[in-house]
Amino acid sequence: MFRKILVANRGEIALRVIRAAREMGVETVAVHSTADADAMHVRMADEAICIGPPPSPHSYLSVPAIISACEITGAEAIHPGYGFLSENANFVQIVEDHGIKFIGPSAEHIRMMGDKITAKDTMKNLGVPCVPGSDGGVPDFDAARAVAETTGFPLIVKATAGGGGRGMKLARSAEELETAFRTARSEAKAAFGNDEVYLEKYLGRPRHIEVQVFGDGKGRAVHLGERDCSLQRRHQKVFEEAPGPAIDDATRAEIGAVCAKAVAEIGYEGAGTIEFLYEDGEFYFIEMNTRLQVEHPVTEAVFGVDLVREQIRVAAGEPMSFTQDDLQVQGHAIEVRINAEKLPNFAPSPGTITQYHAPGGLGVRMDSALYDGYRIPPYYDSLIAKLIVYGRDRPEALARLKRALGELIVDGVDTTVPLFHALLEEPDIQSGDYTIHWLEKWLEEAMAG
Ligand code: ADP
Repeated sequence: MFRKILVANRGEIALRVIRAAREMGVETVAVHSTADADAMHVRMADEAICIGPPPSPHSYLSVPAIISACEITGAEAIHPGYGFLSENANFVQIVEDHGIKFIGPSAEHIRMMGDKITAKDTMKNLGVPCVPGSDGGVPDFDAARAVAETTGFPLIVKATAGGGGRGMKLARSAEELETAFRTARSEAKAAFGNDEVYLEKYLGRPRHIEVQVFGDGKGRAVHLGERDCSLQRRHQKVFEEAPGPAIDDATRAEIGAVCAKAVAEIGYEGAGTIEFLYEDGEFYFIEMNTRLQVEHPVTEAVFGVDLVREQIRVAAGEPMSFTQDDLQVQGHAIEVRINAEKLPNFAPSPGTITQYHAPGGLGVRMDSALYDGYRIPPYYDSLIAKLIVYGRDRPEALARLKRALGELIVDGVDTTVPLFHALLEEPDIQSGDYTIHWLEKWLEEAMAG
């Protein structure tokens, strides 16, 4: 096992990794920008080192600063968390070239899944069901028109280098296709420096279902069921649950086995998420995330495992601590993402926390780096806490979520907590009947009303 690891992140996910490492007897090094000198991850780690000024390109995204921090502190491995450098294949390559272990998949696998056309092609060849559409990249408008003739409308034009919900254009008709195709290409060129695009059939009312996979890097892999993350605003998830209300045991076992087999075959190492749109009982692969997800705690709750501990274990060359047969879903878990944002427009609301009280009690987990007097800097993501609840079944989890939200006190900044109070009153949320468009439509109506 490693003696010391460096956590190349901040906020709640840095604490998450430090906690797992401490339970394993592994020392931790926190890195921070000057804006985060008083942050909780700095206080909680065994050592901390300043890596630069507030803007992330000069600190949390600075490869030389992070490599130097490893060399100065003698850290043997880096956990990237999510976001920042977690899916940057060049970073992984540099880390490994310096004899430091990256806690995550290989640069090759990150690169493969980071390019959406290559990812889709790979998954298709591994037997994973994909959204119908073009066979790879579409070089010009004539080719796009030819694809439309066989696939039909509506279609979505997507950038192979896209991410974070950017680089997608909807086309409902042949007339719209030309504009969609040309704008998608020029926007992709400007945003990602790569104008390659592809076409997909547009699904009208799917759910977002993602399968958690885990590999040992030596050809063994398991799945840990699914999460339903359909409740999204601007393609950002806000509420996630496991198991998915629309997925039964047989469906889970079937899609899970397909995913586990696919990642076993490529020798994938560590945690990964295979994302699907799910409509009329069919799964359609959209992308794979080669890292730990924000919403991983709901999976941990229903399977009773520590995914970060497992990541550190396999990175250190140890075997996974479970087999597929050990993994059975039990109960129900829900996560809500609490952001420092002002409703109804979700405008960032940084500032000083004047009072903080975290909910507790049976089945409640609060992953947050907040504390009384903490000053939320304006430079980073607005996520300030994840509240995760666990119950024996979905109604119990919902009741517990309502109870826990009622206990939470975050004074001094605006938060998205009122959104969750309101959502819990909605019959569709209570019954689990929602698609990826539900929240946007509900927000529109709420604003109009
Ligand atoms: P990104 O990497 O930018 O997040 P994804 O491919 O994961 O891109 O798609 C983001 C979101 O866009 C999905 O969660 C879904 O809401 C929507 N989307 C993507 N592809 C389709 C499709 N073929 N039909 C309908 N909606 C889609």
